[in-house]
This record gives sequence, structure tokens and C-alpha cells, in this order.
Amino acid sequence: MKMWQCSVSGCGEQPRLFALVVSPDGNRSERAVCQNHIERIGLPYVQAKDSGPNLDRSSFDWRFCAVVWAPEPQEFTLVLRNTRDASTIVIPTGYVEATWIYNIVNKVPYEQPTTHEFIANTIRSLAGTPVEAVVEGYDGKAQSFQCYLAIQIASALIKVKCRISDAVAITLVTDTPIRIIMPDISQLPFRR
Ligand SMILES: [Zn+2]
Repeated sequence: MKMWQCSVSGCGEQPRLFALVVSPDGNRSERAVCQNHIERIGLPYVQAKDSGPNLDRSSFDWRFCAVVWAPEPQEFTLVLRNTRDASTIVIPTGYVEATWIYNIVNKVPYEQPTTHEFIANTIRSLAGTPVEAVVEGYDGKAQSFQCYLAIQIASALIKVKCRISDAVAITLVTDTPIRIIMPDISQLPFRR
């Protein structure tokens, strides 16, 4: 993201957050904002309001919403948005994972299949269909999500464990949804 000035017209301050955002209708935009204009990034991520812990979102479909980079301290986050009430979930990730996802969303062309295209192609070559990625838990100690990719092969639904960043990348490559079926979904940093 080559934006070294706050993108708010006439500001010119040094940005504090950079984001690649995909709107619910699929439009991509890149934004950079300074400390004073964080709310202009247009993400619920930075307009956090508690949307209530008791709402059962386990049947909702989630989609990629944004990848956000804060340079100081260096932090990368993925934001997912559900298709029902538009609440979001913020997922900390690493530089490499954020870069892969940024490139997938921006459709950066590669001569050869990328790793996630390769995985999707392999599944299809074996007569499988990627159905969805499922988040079924969160390990607070390890600070990691427990996820699997659900693959339909003939009448069998096969579950393959994966990292949440790979789950997001695969669902972007295969245009499939993410589902979050954790028993205590309220422990996640939901935002609205
Ligand atoms: Zn600004």
C-alpha cells in the first residue's frame, strides 16, 4: 500500500492505519488515515460498539471485509463481516499472511498458481468441492482459532484442520463462506 499521506483531502498527516476494504457488494478500496481521521477508514473495526454477547451468529455466513496494517506498533489484522447483521470480527495475523490475502483480494497476477490456488486445484482434481471454512473454537492460551476446511467428496463431508488465515485465503480463492460455530462466540472481539 503506497500511501504515505492521510487520504483525507487536505490533511497530509502521516497515516496510522492502512486498509484494503471490500464492501458487501464487492467493491475494493484502499485507504490510509492519520490518528485524527481513523473513523474515516470506514470500518466498524475502528467504530467499535458492543453488539451484545447473546446473539447466536452460528448460522451466519461470514466474508472477508478488510486487511488492516498499523505500522507502529507493527500489527496486521483481518476483518470478517457477516452477511446478516454486518457485525465484524477482528483477527490478528502476521505480515506474510496479510500479504497473501492482500494479493489475493487485489488479484495480483502470478505466472503459476499461488499456494492457495494450488490447494483449491488439488481439492477439485480429487473430485472434491470446497464447501466452507468453519471456525469452531478459540484457544485463549495459544491465542489461536481452531478451524477446518469442509470439503464435499461424493456423499462424504471431509474436515481438514487449518489456520484461520489459510481459511480466509481459501474462501477468497474458492468464493465460499466462513462459518463461526463456537459455543461461546461472545468471547471473540465482535464489533458492530
Ligand atoms: Zn488525516
